[in-house]
Amino acid sequence: MRFASLGSGSEGNALLISADSGATRTTVMLDCGFGLRECERRLERLGVAPGDLSGIVVTHEHQDHVGGVFKFARRHRVPVWLSFGTWEAARRDVSNVDVRFCRDGDRLAVGDLELRPYTVPHDAREPIQYVIGDGRSTLGVLTDAGQSTPHMVQMLGGCDALVLECNHDERMLADSKYPPSLKWRIGGPFGHLSNRATAEILAALDQSRLRRIVGAHLSQQNNTPELARSALTGAIADAGTEVMIACQEEGFGWLEVGA
Ligand SMILES: [Zn+2]
Ligand SMILES: [Zn+2]
Repeated sequence: MRFASLGSGSEGNALLISADSGATRTTVMLDCGFGLRECERRLERLGVAPGDLSGIVVTHEHQDHVGGVFKFARRHRVPVWLSFGTWEAARRDVSNVDVRFCRDGDRLAVGDLELRPYTVPHDAREPIQYVIGDGRSTLGVLTDAGQSTPHMVQMLGGCDALVLECNHDERMLADSKYPPSLKWRIGGPFGHLSNRATAEILAALDQSRLRRIVGAHLSQQNNTPELARSALTGAIADAGTEVMIACQEEGFGWLEVGA
């Protein structure tokens, strides 16, 4: 199983996960916060044609995650999985889109992939994140959460690779020119994970299989790749675990999930 990012941050997010069984290949896109043409351009950069996608899974209704989902799904006839709350709150034109609902605790089979949605605290209607496996290795994804919960720590334990939000450095956010209400929203219990909060989650979870971590959804104003990387590196149990940082423009290229 491999994964790659089309871009990561408040300007737009999309992640690809691909499993190759030898005879078949399954590729799903997790969120699509880019417009149709921009998404197609970024897919091409990663060597993926829109017709290669077996589905789009959505985390929540914020524009940087859902902005391009339904136009893309309609144009390229790709089914979309999302929570009922996200579907209600997105209020998009879903005509001619194959919409399927999922919720915490489900095990979605999409081709050779199994996706397990799990609930996170964030200021959206029914936000979920996903753990994705192909029977051999497992990728855990967590962005857009305001605080750690025991459920999150349990779901992300035992994964081979993780994509973890490192939204902001608490000091940079406090010193920024953002209005107090926005600072409170971002740093609050339904906002976004700071480098420190993510490092605490990482330190708490089962890292016995963990080989790779990608820091994601970095604020371009209130964080730096160096600060995020150092927070993650400080929380890994095995110095051999590789730490990378995703960026808004390039995301990151294809990476293997397992060893
Ligand atoms: Zn977001
Ligand atoms: Zn969000």
